[in-house]
Amino acid sequence: MVKIHSIETLGALDGPGIRTVVFFSGCVMRCKYCHNPDTWQGGEERDEAELADWCVRYKTYYGNNGGVTLSGGEPLFQKEGAIKLLKELKSRRIHTALDTGGGVFCPEALELADLTIIDIKHPEPDAFSKLTGVPQKSLIQSLEYLREHNKKFWARLVCVPKLTDTPEVVRAVKRMAAGAEKIELLPYHTMGVPKWRKLGLEYPLEGVPPLSQERLEELKRILQK
Ligand code: SF4
Repeated sequence: MVKIHSIETLGALDGPGIRTVVFFSGCVMRCKYCHNPDTWQGGEERDEAELADWCVRYKTYYGNNGGVTLSGGEPLFQKEGAIKLLKELKSRRIHTALDTGGGVFCPEALELADLTIIDIKHPEPDAFSKLTGVPQKSLIQSLEYLREHNKKFWARLVCVPKLTDTPEVVRAVKRMAAGAEKIELLPYHTMGVPKWRKLGLEYPLEGVPPLSQERLEELKRILQK
């Protein structure tokens, strides 16, 4: 059984094509800019095979490159369940993507997923720990595994003003993500802040403005150089 926060159908942002996105409950990290803190606890128990059957209902929408993305929270926080669901989906010939923050090193899941989308929260170990609350080791191990085993992966960086929106950070992320099919730079936004308040939590990045479109474009140009 696996604890699920929610499921989004016909998603177009978390992986290629049209996808069902399964948001797992629980996370090992406590990222200061988390926009899904409501996934950290609770959730509804689901059987992996039943969940995979449910996802099959949308198979016609997936087309050639769509499928199912395991997201969260952190799907590998429940790694047994994530592995089981990946196997169930694979046996139904559904393309799988694993959207992970890199906080848990789980070679079996990295091996099973057709695509891994991995966040590089910060390239520098101390800053990474301050931002996420966990050491960077699992992320490094995961990136090494993906490279050594020629696994398909995308890397992501959330660009937070004055924290991760510098040319140095972008260049360092590019080096760390060597071998990635794609690197996505995402703009920091504050849409998740009301969720922190609703949970009675203090938002750690209070006052930090959303990243401007202009700055994002500059960083994308730096990434391409
Ligand atoms: S890894 Fe994702 S879900 Fe977990 S705390 Fe960070 S942003 Fe939130």
